[in-house]
Amino acid sequence: MLDGSLFRFSKSLESFNVFRRPKTLKLSSVYLRQVSALSIQPDSFLDDDYLGMALKQAQEWFGKPRELGHVSDVTTCPRQKTFEMLDPEPEGMSFKKLGYYTSGKAVHSIFQSLYMSNRGRFDKEKYVEHCGIVGHIDIYDKHYNRPIEFKTYRAGIWDSAPILTKPMWYAEDQLRYYMAMLDSPLGYLIYQFLAQPKANGTDYVFKKFKIEMPTQWERKERLGKLVEEVTTLKNGVKTKDPSIVRAIYDDKNLNWLCKECKYVKECEGMRPK
Ligand code: SF4
Repeated sequence: MLDGSLFRFSKSLESFNVFRRPKTLKLSSVYLRQVSALSIQPDSFLDDDYLGMALKQAQEWFGKPRELGHVSDVTTCPRQKTFEMLDPEPEGMSFKKLGYYTSGKAVHSIFQSLYMSNRGRFDKEKYVEHCGIVGHIDIYDKHYNRPIEFKTYRAGIWDSAPILTKPMWYAEDQLRYYMAMLDSPLGYLIYQFLAQPKANGTDYVFKKFKIEMPTQWERKERLGKLVEEVTTLKNGVKTKDPSIVRAIYDDKNLNWLCKECKYVKECEGMRPK
C-alpha cells in the first residue's frame, strides 16, 4: 500500500520545485532551443548537489510526522510512532529513507497503472475508513470486493536470505485490516523481490500470497483489534507514555527496525527486566 506520505510524495512530484531551472531571458522558444543545443554556459562544469536538492525537498514534504489515525500507524512499531509524535525534533528524511520511498513508489505506480487500464474493475488508492481510522489500498478489485497490496522485499541472494514462504506478518496484518474494513473474505499480497534471488534454478521476481478471512466473526474481531491498537497509540501520545504502547523488539522479523531507531535507549529502559 502507499501510505499517506508516500501518496503525497507521488502527488507532489509534478511540482518538484527544487529542480526548476534558473530563469532565463524570455527569447523565442525556437531560438532558445537552437542556442541551448550549441552553447555551453560558463558555469556548466560547476558541480551541484543534485542529490542534496532532492533530499532537502523530501525533508520538507515528509520530514514531519502526519496526524495519527492511519492503519499503517500500527502495523510496524506503534511505540516508535508514539516516540516520534512526542519528539520535538523528529528524525528527518535520510538518503536511506528516500531510497525506500523511490523504489517502493516505482513498483507501486507501475503496478497500479497496469491494473488501472481496466477502470471498470479496479480502483487504485481505494480509501477505507472505520471509526475515524483510515487506509488507502493499493489496488481494489471492485468485481470481487478484494484488496491487493504490493510489497518489495530487499533480502536475497547476496545475504543468502531464504525465499519468502509466507508474507511478513506486519504486511499480512495490514492487509487483514483492509479486508476487515471492506468486509472481504479474501485479499492478496504481491511481493517483488528486488534482489531477484534464485532458488532451485528459478529466478524469483514476484510472489503472490492469498490471505483468507472467511468468517464475519474474524473480520469483526480484526476491526476491534484495529480500534484497540490505534486507541492505545493515541493514549500513549496523550499521556506522553510510550511504554503503554506495543513494541516489536522481540519480533525477529521486525526488530531490525530497533537497530536504526532513534529511541532505542528510552525504549530499552521501558522493557520488562
Ligand atoms: S527500539 Fe524497537 S521496539 Fe523500541 S520503539 Fe524503537 S523500533 Fe520500537
